[in-house]
Amino acid sequence: MTSSRNLNIKEIRFIISKINEYFYTNYEGIGYTNVLDDQFEYFSEFHKFWEKYHKEVLNPKVDEEKCEQVAGVLHDVYKKFGRPPFYELYDTFSLKPEEICTIRYFSANQDFRGSRDFEDLFKKYSEDPSIFDKSEIISKPEIFLKNLGITSLSQSDKRIKYAKKASQILIDNKIEAYDLLDFCDNDILKLRNLLISNKGSGFGNKKTDMFLRDMIVLGVWKNPKNFDKIDVASDINTVKVALRSGIIKTDIALISSFLDVFCYQYGLIDEISALAWRKVWEIWNRKYPTENIESPCLIDYFVYRVIGKNFCKETLCIFKCETKKHEFKWHSAKNRTCQICYKNKVRNSAIVVKKMLPCMDEEGYIVIEKSNFVSSSNALLPDLKECPFAVVCKPKNSNFIKLNPPKSISILGQTGWESAKTRANEGGGGLMS
Ligand SMILES: [Zn+2]
Ligand SMILES: [Zn+2]
Repeated sequence: MTSSRNLNIKEIRFIISKINEYFYTNYEGIGYTNVLDDQFEYFSEFHKFWEKYHKEVLNPKVDEEKCEQVAGVLHDVYKKFGRPPFYELYDTFSLKPEEICTIRYFSANQDFRGSRDFEDLFKKYSEDPSIFDKSEIISKPEIFLKNLGITSLSQSDKRIKYAKKASQILIDNKIEAYDLLDFCDNDILKLRNLLISNKGSGFGNKKTDMFLRDMIVLGVWKNPKNFDKIDVASDINTVKVALRSGIIKTDIALISSFLDVFCYQYGLIDEISALAWRKVWEIWNRKYPTENIESPCLIDYFVYRVIGKNFCKETLCIFKCETKKHEFKWHSAKNRTCQICYKNKVRNSAIVVKKMLPCMDEEGYIVIEKSNFVSSSNALLPDLKECPFAVVCKPKNSNFIKLNPPKSISILGQTGWESAKTRANEGGGGLMS
């Protein structure tokens, strides 16, 4: 398409205003949709259409053949590196199981995750354990959030509610976080339902699954019932790896979040991704029963953290020297120096001319070798040279497409769709950052 004009200005005005009207405006009587246990007026005619037909249009499927290949990858990782890539989450600094559980319980629903967060919370806990006391939290939730270092005002109402509700659950049942599993007859699925059904606790599917998985992997809770029912936690990184490896496929490339009103696409792809990772786990278990990874959710850390956030990113950079004489590959976009000149003791600057996934280039090891997961003193994957998924994604083939995961736009709040609504005849509407 070009920007040449075959239409006259009146026709153009008509078309633009109709596109806008259809996608981005509503009118009195357009009707309501049900989400978040509430009713919302439809955002636009397209919103209504998309709610009804997104599944048929996108037609997402799990590709079993690819799942089998990915199961083979995980099996290889297991053979080479053993159980740690699936079980080693982060250092818990010789805390007692009860303490780990309390810290994670009151931080998971606030969306704290990963090792750096945990280290940080651990320090706070060791300085003053009373910060995490349930009766302190319920009576002074603002102080609890401040102690955690949460200062973002935009979400503070929501966060206060989460903190209070999470302590309320424990107080009502006269237990500590550590007793939750016992309270649910050692059944992790029952516990999952308990947390998720407590609306306003902040324990949605994703945060609950991460919390539960962490508790098992960190050895806080042992051998619960129904652990295998917990899926890979919902996350754009696991979806990204699912798309790029081809274990899920859609009939069209995913649409922009500008069009995915109320996240129908996002929710659907997320669901299919969990099914696909479950399929991978089933095949892996069936073919190599002795390796015995107890639940699909244990694949999560490896796929999301190691592959998704570390390897499957455009971190291999091609630099050009300011003299224009040199080009070189480097593992960090933050470099500002021509490293070829520098070797000859000359200082010239260099700029990034291209970024790639490390797996797409023969010299991708430049990046992989530098990863903490590969080169630190107690690395999970010592001496790895290439992303283990490359044998499935085949990223060096010319027909490889670096598919992107869907993005979600929230419904409520300043940056949500709900505040972007407008009537067709009034004009305006939309989001401001
Ligand atoms: Zn140079
Ligand atoms: Zn890759």
